[in-house]
Amino acid sequence: MRFSDFFAPTSKDVPSDAKIASHRLMLRAGMISQTASGIYCWLPLAIRVLDKIIKIICEEQDNIGANRVLFSTVQPADLWMESGRYDDYGKEMLRIQDRKGGQFLYSPTNEEQATDIFRKYVKSYRCLPTMLYQIHWKFRDEIRPRFGVMRGREFLMKDGYSFASNCEEARQIYKKVFKAYIKTFRRMGLTPIPVQADTGPIGGNISHEFHVLAETGESTLYYDKKLLKATDDELLNTFAVADEKYDPNTSPISEDQLQISNGIEVGHIFYFGKKYSEPMSAFVLNEHGEKIYPEMGSYGIGVSRLIAGIIEAFHDNRGIMWPEPVAPFDVTILNLHTKNEDCCNISEKLYEIISRKKDVLFDDRDLSVGEKLGDADLIGIPWQIIIGQKKLSQGIIELKNRQSNKIEEMTLDAVIERFKK
Ligand code: ATP
Ligand code: MG
Repeated sequence: MRFSDFFAPTSKDVPSDAKIASHRLMLRAGMISQTASGIYCWLPLAIRVLDKIIKIICEEQDNIGANRVLFSTVQPADLWMESGRYDDYGKEMLRIQDRKGGQFLYSPTNEEQATDIFRKYVKSYRCLPTMLYQIHWKFRDEIRPRFGVMRGREFLMKDGYSFASNCEEARQIYKKVFKAYIKTFRRMGLTPIPVQADTGPIGGNISHEFHVLAETGESTLYYDKKLLKATDDELLNTFAVADEKYDPNTSPISEDQLQISNGIEVGHIFYFGKKYSEPMSAFVLNEHGEKIYPEMGSYGIGVSRLIAGIIEAFHDNRGIMWPEPVAPFDVTILNLHTKNEDCCNISEKLYEIISRKKDVLFDDRDLSVGEKLGDADLIGIPWQIIIGQKKLSQGIIELKNRQSNKIEEMTLDAVIERFKK
């Protein structure tokens, strides 16, 4: 992609209402544009990151046998009356009336819809367990939308739903999802902290939240120092709780074993048994022809919030420092002197060759050196290939790593060699 064609309206202005780094940087890098409080348009740079995140999530969901679907965003209120949540959900729910007076709502979550699909199509115990998931927009009329996409009203969520024949099978699925989540967040370069959580309005028996550490996180985490080194199996049972769930009087670990940090909740999983299957009459027949109501769980990841969470974890005072697996491009080539023939020839050549294997953003814009270097640091692509006339006349191309900010001087051939695979 040539930067001259690319729609990334970067800016130096720091909006005064943007209080945290990720919000400021997403606006300055031209990733999002606010439509209304807590509602955003997503611009190309952000879409590229969303796509990478979604791909990682989908691969790990496929690995555990979950099936991707898309539920409708608008649901009939009747479904929520069946589960009994229509009145309970309160003001966070965006309620909609159609022209015939029919009552609808914009999905804040989809337990009812998943249960409805299940009861329509799954009739036999032989089809269990079943797992469905989607990556789709939600609307919650949050009382205090803030921090940009971190707490929006419209936001993108991965939500999964599982149906099992019995408690044991349901617990096995829960564990499988738990491990898949740890892997998913690690693949994005993050260190997830799973904490034992309250089940909230979704209700139920077991629940974990997944947090990433960040000073600006809204949650306070209390956890055993061992946690950062625990294996995946140990993680499930290592002490970690958030906020008011921590009680020093009942804490199973001593004060010197306790670590306290702020975290951003990027995922939340629940096991809640028959909470929806029974009231909504979702059942299958067992081998004796008897009804069994599946044991259910639901599993969320805040996909749009994750982008902000990743930026909170990876930035400096100049801009974003994307981990490679979620970066909007792999490499950026900066032609610092677009009036110099050698700079143009070499950067065009590199662009042509490196694009065969990598996603490249080629900054061919007719802007000052300072503006180009500034934008490159702001946007945070992991590798910058910098071509300037003075160094090039000595046969040197600079390669900068945006995580370490270290610059290596290289020959043209060495640069090609580095990025040819
Ligand atoms: P929170 O405690 O942050 O309000 P929640 O517990 O209400 O979140 P869940 O119903 O567990 O949220 O939703 C699953 C995931 O969706 C959360 O872990 C979070 O990452 C994300 N999420 C929830 N609400 C929002 C929001 N308003 N904006 C962006 N992401 C959100
Ligand atoms: Mg939650």
